[in-house]
Amino acid sequence: MLTVGNYHYIRNDFAAPYPSIFGVTPTFFREQLVALKEIGTFITPQELLENREQVIQSPNHYILITFDDGLKEQYLQAKPILDELEIKALFFINSINFIEKEVTLVHKIHLLRSQMSTPAFFDILKAFDIEGKTVLSKDEKVQAIIHYNYDDEETALLKFTLNFKLSIQEQRDLIGVIFDRHFDTDQVVKGLYMTEAQLIQLANEGMLGSHTHSHLPLGYLDRDVIAKEYMTSKNYLEQLTNKDIPYVSYPYGSREACAAPVEEMAKSAAHTIGFTMERSINRGDENPLLLKRFDCNDLPLGKNQKAFDHAYRLIHK
Ligand SMILES: [Zn+2]
Repeated sequence: MLTVGNYHYIRNDFAAPYPSIFGVTPTFFREQLVALKEIGTFITPQELLENREQVIQSPNHYILITFDDGLKEQYLQAKPILDELEIKALFFINSINFIEKEVTLVHKIHLLRSQMSTPAFFDILKAFDIEGKTVLSKDEKVQAIIHYNYDDEETALLKFTLNFKLSIQEQRDLIGVIFDRHFDTDQVVKGLYMTEAQLIQLANEGMLGSHTHSHLPLGYLDRDVIAKEYMTSKNYLEQLTNKDIPYVSYPYGSREACAAPVEEMAKSAAHTIGFTMERSINRGDENPLLLKRFDCNDLPLGKNQKAFDHAYRLIHK
């Protein structure tokens, strides 16, 4: 069986005027790896690639660490700890950050929200008033609060407006304009994402994968767009590093984001191992292109450790 744990931001200090970037510190990361070592054996991406069925079906508990979004802090803060503990992980990259030198939409939203309050952000959105889409009906407000039940009301309404009222293109256009008012894209790209030299180093160590080109929820897109999302990123990474890129992590990783034909098209794009965010342990009958994965918060020592404990107990009872 195989447990996969995924990380995003890793930094010492998450302080911001309006905290909206969440992740783990290097100290926590190290402690979590040590805790995981107690309950399983770390496997390298290459070992998983070569023996995927045996690994998933094995009674032994294997563990793999992954990182999404190609953040430079992952290379600077996490990789030295991995090296010290002799663990090989997988780092998933969006090629838009390199080819177009563009900031990923979700990072634009994180950065903006860390600098302004939710009501202030909402006011800016409303000022654009795209076809009245930023005005929610009573019914929609109820839906929003139910859907985002972990968030406060204002945040739930904002997330609902962005994700359910605006199209992806509208979100991109609108957030792009607001982002440009507050941030310098070149500077953010340089500071936030890895360098090409770092990508090459990861590839040389068998630790590089694709997170598609522009971090869209693939399951909602047309086939030609999905194909382009896979191939742009894979071709870029393979040409840059002179290595095969058999690994893919699907942006957002939800059931909807990984719905057909996402897996079938990953196979057509010559990917062999794919990761969702379905939070569970892989125990035997999983499709290697739809492997389950925990967020690091779900794993031992994490804020939501219960998710992992529950899955682990089922196996060991
Ligand atoms: Zn991502």
